[in-house]
Amino acid sequence: MKTEILKENTATKSRLNGFSHDDIGDDHLYAGLQTPMKADAFKLTDTEKKERIATLFEEIMDVMGLDLTDDSLKGTPNRVAKMYIDEIFSGLNPKNKPKIALFDNKYQYNQMLIEKNITFYSNCEHHFVPIIGKVHVSYISSGKVIGLSKINRIVQYFAKRPQVQERLTNQIAEELKTILKTEDVAVIIDAKHLCVSSRGIKDDTSATVTTYYGGQFNTPNKVAELQNYLKN
Ligand SMILES: [Zn+2]
Repeated sequence: MKTEILKENTATKSRLNGFSHDDIGDDHLYAGLQTPMKADAFKLTDTEKKERIATLFEEIMDVMGLDLTDDSLKGTPNRVAKMYIDEIFSGLNPKNKPKIALFDNKYQYNQMLIEKNITFYSNCEHHFVPIIGKVHVSYISSGKVIGLSKINRIVQYFAKRPQVQERLTNQIAEELKTILKTEDVAVIIDAKHLCVSSRGIKDDTSATVTTYYGGQFNTPNKVAELQNYLKN
């Protein structure tokens, strides 16, 4: 089994050798678990970042020939900068990570708990256009339970980054495993990528599904049980 995986990896690698970075980006191939960040990512304050982004975005608009003295356009660079730092990419900064309190599992509930249809908005890191979808999370308590809305908050935190769906799936799963001190975590994401539907191949009907089945979830019975709950 191990040899097979190794072989496949080698094959994938050699297949990639003939491709440029642009092609790789277009195909949304999986990157590592951690979002790639520079060592000095937080040297600038949020205010400094917003000022710099506004200046740079103004330049992009200017290069494209847009009239920045126009009433409708002149506020755009500042709006975009504020939106990047305070909203859609706020999950890049660990200071925005939700604080999670756990509770004792006093009901002795020891079956799977499912939080399904968590709506999220993220952005594809290759084109900076939206990824929109639903996340379904399940876990089996190892003694502690988490407030339900906290699961939503964890999903939103990792979604508010430039992302690839595979990494988003694994980041949510790893975070829940660490917090809940259990391997018994499952994460399923079903999403639409606007870089696939609104540009490029322009396929408006396809969706991308990614899954993580850890611990007890990694058996055909548990997968079938979970899938059954997600049907409706
Ligand atoms: Zn993309």
